[in-house]
Amino acid sequence: MLSLEALFNSYAYMGDVTVIAICITIFILLGSSYVSRTRGFRIFSAIIGTVLWAAIVNIVYNEMLVRYTAELRYVIYTLRVVYYFLLFDVFFLFALYASVVSNLEHRKARSIAIISTVLFGVIMGTDITLTAVGVGFRLAEDGTVIYGTNVFLIGYVMFVFLIASLLLRVRQLVYKRVMYGFFGTMALAIFLRVLQIAISQSVLTTMTFILPIIAMLYFMHSTPYNIKDGTLDIRAMEDMVNNLYVKKEQFIFMSLFLPDFGEEGKELPEAIRAQTRRFSREFFRNGVLFQISNGQIVMIAKKKPNPDYEEWMQTILNAFTDQYEHFKYPYKIVYGDSIDEISEKNEYALLIDSVHMAIPENTAHRLCPEDIRNFNQDKYILSELADIYNKRDVNDPRVLAYCQPVLNIKTGKFDTAEVLMRLELENVGTVMPVKFIPIAESHEYIHVLTEIILHKTCQEIKKLSNEGYYINRISVNVSVLELKLDDFCCDIESIIKSNGIPSDKIALEITESQTDADFMIMKEKIETLHEHGIQFYLDDFGTGYSNMERIMEMPFDIIKFDRSMLIASGIDERSERIVENLAHMFKDMDYSVLYEGVEDEEAEKRCKEMSASYLQGYKYSRPIPIEKIRDFLPKVI
Ligand code: C2E
Ligand code: CA
Ligand code: CA
Repeated sequence: MLSLEALFNSYAYMGDVTVIAICITIFILLGSSYVSRTRGFRIFSAIIGTVLWAAIVNIVYNEMLVRYTAELRYVIYTLRVVYYFLLFDVFFLFALYASVVSNLEHRKARSIAIISTVLFGVIMGTDITLTAVGVGFRLAEDGTVIYGTNVFLIGYVMFVFLIASLLLRVRQLVYKRVMYGFFGTMALAIFLRVLQIAISQSVLTTMTFILPIIAMLYFMHSTPYNIKDGTLDIRAMEDMVNNLYVKKEQFIFMSLFLPDFGEEGKELPEAIRAQTRRFSREFFRNGVLFQISNGQIVMIAKKKPNPDYEEWMQTILNAFTDQYEHFKYPYKIVYGDSIDEISEKNEYALLIDSVHMAIPENTAHRLCPEDIRNFNQDKYILSELADIYNKRDVNDPRVLAYCQPVLNIKTGKFDTAEVLMRLELENVGTVMPVKFIPIAESHEYIHVLTEIILHKTCQEIKKLSNEGYYINRISVNVSVLELKLDDFCCDIESIIKSNGIPSDKIALEITESQTDADFMIMKEKIETLHEHGIQFYLDDFGTGYSNMERIMEMPFDIIKFDRSMLIASGIDERSERIVENLAHMFKDMDYSVLYEGVEDEEAEKRCKEMSASYLQGYKYSRPIPIEKIRDFLPKVI
């Protein structure tokens, strides 16, 4: 038997023992890390397993050779064939692997598989035949090895050639650095192999297969690289920022966001990836790309090696605008210099995100000090919102209910009102909805805010009726996102009920849904609540693309014409006719029409001529703290 001593003392075994150790280490690493189990990964595991077996077989083969007896003759022949079979199987799997990870077309992948199989078969067949006819590898009577024609070397060269040409063909599909990694390790492996032949050694034969495996392990399965464009993930970006900050190196960044691809599961199209790759390569010698969220790619480049960066930035922006003409995907670009304060806290992703949210589509924005101020304020607001969310206190004093009275034309009285939210925060004072609603929506804090504002509204309604004021109903704005929550109806009903006021004192204002799926979800909830007496207003009519069919399917009571419609109607006669006809049509179908943003007498007059039932705007009152609504309400007689 093979003694442990022989295994470790013999130079000849060391190569294979090391291979076994490395393979086991890789298996342990893979088993204890979160690698995605793709098809490529399964082939990769098979490669390691095969190399492991090859090393074991090679040890046994060499051991048998040392203990040669005539009876062992055919066992040795077989072991040798098995050893080479395993090595060529590794080559075969390499070729398969390369075609899988580069997403090669099905037809091409199949022809690669066929060529590899044929090559595999021919090499094995030739070797066995040559041995059988006595010109290939064989053993002399005393057990010394006669090598004869070395088919394996020819096979080795052919497979290396096959894989290299395959890699060259797919190089456009794979990020450059990954490509270099493969070619580099392959060259090193071939060098070792040649070196061995030169010194008539075979200790490292199995070992040479390990190098490309390590390269693959790194590039494909354990780094955050996206193999196609070489983008790294957000953690890698934070590492880079941190490194540069510690070394006091200034850098520039540029972020591209395509809102169309901003959702989970949507991938940037290959053409866009190719362009970003090209831009960063052509304009920045050492620009590094990061994909930090869906639809968003950030490039970071050191300032020093790019002295003309101001110019390059402009060139990129121009090139991008040209590309836009071609692709027509709406985009947002934010770019600028590194800022120590942000680098220190490593907050570029958040900063860029906040700027992306603030700028309009199809613009390129250069970061300015005001953005940083806004960002810090947004962060503060977000932390307060998180706190409000966590406390879930319906009486939270930071959430203020403001209110705007609505004039009922038929009665000439203010008998309804709309509640508008404000935040009162210690460090920044009163915050308006434009600032905090988008933040609350994107962090899913909006529903708790609605619950608080609804509770405060219900309390006020109760007080008002106790004091003898007449209020028909007060409307509360709800976000479309909330309507998707399972508990939405329950939450709303229980707040109204717990305050002991009739449901018909509350109306909810919602804007139109943008998709069919949202519409279906909304419709069901609205119908449920409507059956319980809650009224619904369609908010901001005229601002988006309206779908009349959908509007008609919902039980809306009031259609709120956005201020932009009122403004348009005042500009020319044609627009006025359109608004007038729309309003008339709604009125005909028993909806009430409310005009928002009535600021003066002239607008009021026009609204009255355009089928208005309700009017709301600065002409009557700006939004006021809800308790001041008393000044407008009639008393019950
Ligand atoms: P909205 O629902 O369309 O509210 C009407 C906005 O127009 C209010 O702005 C109001 O102050 C303003 N406004 C009223 N009359 C006039 C006028 O005559 N002229 C002009 N130029 N503006 C007028 P505000 O309070 O800043 O609210 C902005 C938006 O924030 C609201 O638009 C609504 O979409 C949202 N919002 C406000 N409160 C809440 C809330 O409690 N929940 C939710 N989800 N959204 C809210
Ligand atoms: Ca509203
Ligand atoms: Ca509105």
